[in-house]
Amino acid sequence: MKTVIRGIGQIVSGDLRAPLLDGDTIVCVDGRIAQVGAEALVDAAGADTVVDARGTTVLPGLLDSHVHPVVGDFTPRQRSLDFLESELQGGVTTMISAGEVHTPGRPRDVVGLKALAILAARAYRSFRPGGAKVHAGAPVLEQGLEEADFAELARAGVRLVGEIGLGSVRTGKDAAPMVRWARRHGMTVTIHTGGPSIAGSSPIDADTVLEADPHVVGHINGGTTSMSPGQIATLIERTGMALEIVHCGNPRTSLLTLRLAREARAWDRVILGNDAPSGTGVVPLGILRTLALLASVGECPPEVAVAMATGNTARIYHLPVGTIAPGREADLVICDAPTGSVASTALEALRAGDLPGISMILIDGVPRIGRSRNTAPAARAAEVTRGLVPAGGH
Ligand SMILES: [Zn+2]
Repeated sequence: MKTVIRGIGQIVSGDLRAPLLDGDTIVCVDGRIAQVGAEALVDAAGADTVVDARGTTVLPGLLDSHVHPVVGDFTPRQRSLDFLESELQGGVTTMISAGEVHTPGRPRDVVGLKALAILAARAYRSFRPGGAKVHAGAPVLEQGLEEADFAELARAGVRLVGEIGLGSVRTGKDAAPMVRWARRHGMTVTIHTGGPSIAGSSPIDADTVLEADPHVVGHINGGTTSMSPGQIATLIERTGMALEIVHCGNPRTSLLTLRLAREARAWDRVILGNDAPSGTGVVPLGILRTLALLASVGECPPEVAVAMATGNTARIYHLPVGTIAPGREADLVICDAPTGSVASTALEALRAGDLPGISMILIDGVPRIGRSRNTAPAARAAEVTRGLVPAGGH
């Protein structure tokens, strides 16, 4: 199965080291990117599907490093149906669970929490809302877990540990041995930081994070209440952990994190999450809004901000997506400045603080979504000129 996207105005790689690519054509074969370059130099013949990007921008499908799913495409937290498919309409093709904490009656005993994690991991492996890839099964650590439990979870396909601190394990001393076991069994671990998200849980400070030693500093800008600037600086300077900036957090410390990470030459550690559903709501455009915040008020080059939401996250979580390069899964977002913007391209729109309009989303090389039903309309829209046309949102 071959798909060719031609007529591209700008290709954003998702790789911080070379965030913009030369060329106007991307060739996908059997769901993966095969070639990127000038149309005359790639093998574009014999495609089953041809997309004309009409001079617009192609980004890697965005990753959301912090979503709270339950099972299926329903969240009890805000009583919303199809919230995952709606986030896909905001350009997010991969969503990573930070814990299925909103499961009504979430079991807190060891057998129950393992059962929930395995259920979530396996259910979302078979269930792709709108085609989106949901990585779930992120157990919340509770007292009583032993190394054998992590081994069992790993054998059953659990690759994540949800936000430490949302369960009964909430000190660095209690978390540290469990994080070591999780690491030993190949899991990627995140931790809640800052003030508690709901009444009844406790704040987590930089010392707790240092002692626990997870891979990811979860919502370093608060979920929703941020750590202090001093604690944020400590974690940037004294660790190599991923620094997760979330939409449903504190905008001032998100920009502080961006600046301190630049000074520490640590932009490759910054990843972006939504932290929804949450008390803030269900926010389908949360990742795009965070990109616009960092690129406009934060004055981060927009192609670098895109890499934070794509290639950086894929690297931290070991996922074969997030960059436009041969061999990667062909999850692609075609977008442009929205109609009426002061900007004339998607990246200029982000720099101006506007959200790009998405005109097509491909997953595994297949056009899945036409014009997004959630973004403003793209000024210029991609079109399928050969093959099956995806349904549009407008
Ligand atoms: Zn949290």
